[in-house]
Amino acid sequence: MTRMMYCPICAAEVRQNSMNFGCASGRSLSARLGYSLQRAVQLVAPSAQPPREVELSPYLSCPNCTVELEEYDERVRRLECPACGLRMSTEDQLELMEDKPHHPDPKEDA
Ligand SMILES: [Zn+2]
Ligand SMILES: [Zn+2]
Repeated sequence: MTRMMYCPICAAEVRQNSMNFGCASGRSLSARLGYSLQRAVQLVAPSAQPPREVELSPYLSCPNCTVELEEYDERVRRLECPACGLRMSTEDQLELMEDKPHHPDPKEDA
């Protein structure tokens, strides 16, 4: 069963096509990252709240419930969503932060 998943950068829906993941704003995610986020989402309960507006997140948002995640702290190994408890690995977080400058702004017309 596939769960709804949202782009941690812009909160648009992430769609999976075989091994390829991409967010509705037009940015693709690596297969490693896509599967890793998918696993994290499957470990927590689906969100009862509607997702936030699609726009670039100040940092990163939760791929399950789109609540804004708190910035990585050196003392904590993983990001944890304050709303649904989703945990994001440091590796995923670093990959997303590297990708963020290249992510299209969904508020800008292409
Ligand atoms: Zn996105
Ligand atoms: Zn969450």
